Amino acid sequence: DDFCHRLPKVELHAHLNTSYSMKFLRELARHNGIAEEDFVQDLCLKEAKPLDEGFALFVRLHQIFKTEEAIYRLTCSVIKEFAEDNVKYLELRSTPKMIPETGMTRDLYMQTMVRAVKDCEKEGLDITVRLLVSIDRRHGVEVARIAVDLADKLMQSTQGLVLGVDFSGDPKVGDATDFIPVFLDAAKRGLKLSLHLAEIPLYEETKNVLQACCRSCTMRIGHGTFLHRYDLGKGHEEMEDIVLQWKIPIEACVTSNILSKTVDCPGTHHFHYWHSKQHPVILCTDGKGAFGCSLTDEYSKVAKEFGFGKRDLLAYALSTVDSIFEGDQVKQRLRETMRVFGQKES
Ligand code: IMP
Repeated sequence: DDFCHRLPKVELHAHLNTSYSMKFLRELARHNGIAEEDFVQDLCLKEAKPLDEGFALFVRLHQIFKTEEAIYRLTCSVIKEFAEDNVKYLELRSTPKMIPETGMTRDLYMQTMVRAVKDCEKEGLDITVRLLVSIDRRHGVEVARIAVDLADKLMQSTQGLVLGVDFSGDPKVGDATDFIPVFLDAAKRGLKLSLHLAEIPLYEETKNVLQACCRSCTMRIGHGTFLHRYDLGKGHEEMEDIVLQWKIPIEACVTSNILSKTVDCPGTHHFHYWHSKQHPVILCTDGKGAFGCSLTDEYSKVAKEFGFGKRDLLAYALSTVDSIFEGDQVKQRLRETMRVFGQKES
């Protein structure tokens, strides 16, 4: 555990609103003069619940993090906590929200996150943070276009601090196929894509999106839990072939998947399937608050389950750098940090 903690890591799949810590929630409650215990109750999934119940939790969180101040404080605290966990590179994602009641606009929401990232940078925290603008599939294609315009604008105005879009939300709502033109447009503008796909067994939309986007988009897959389940019917070979051929990295969130009941236990998690094929698969937390985990926990779980020693862990951490959306300069810096760490440890 201690080694996993010290190990320099990258976190590529973290949603802002579910990445709070209990400590932060308590501080926020005190700050707002609310009884702490009432406030934090039920905000952490301690036992497995179907994915639907996770989405009910998200609705509650959105009612808490709705002012500029709350978003700013949350972003700063999430960045600091990842830095304390020795995450050296973080891609943090969030859905820009329009909340008339508090005067929040989508633009102000993302600008507030950008301000928090820059302030953390000024403080000299040992972590590089980049942002992804989330598209919530429940809100439909028109809102998705607004998110892409916003991401594009911010990518330009922040010189690449915002570098892509995420596609997420309740997978039971809508069809990802409808969003393909939006994804292609985003990629054309130079935005990178992290798309939640096959989180549940949705063969058609996953195949459609992969076929349409694999050639022209720089992309990763969020979860991809059901990409390789041949037992679910014919056609899965095709999806797997595309993922392998185009080396599309998969963001694997072990604790989140188990608590959401899409995976039974660490031993059957698809991490192992892809990792043993030497396919890029990156351990991530998804929402370290909602799922009560840290990135160290995720590394420890996998190390224990699959018998990874220190060398394996270091080699694995190094391999995750290939899948970040930042360019070669940042990649080289991260590899150097890991190399120096490896030398010190040996
Ligand atoms: P936010 O974008 O910062 O508000 O983070 C919470 C949002 O992320 C939720 O409302 C969902 O749209 C999305 N999200 C978080 N976890 C998952 C997941 O496991 N599957 C799909 N969407 C998710």
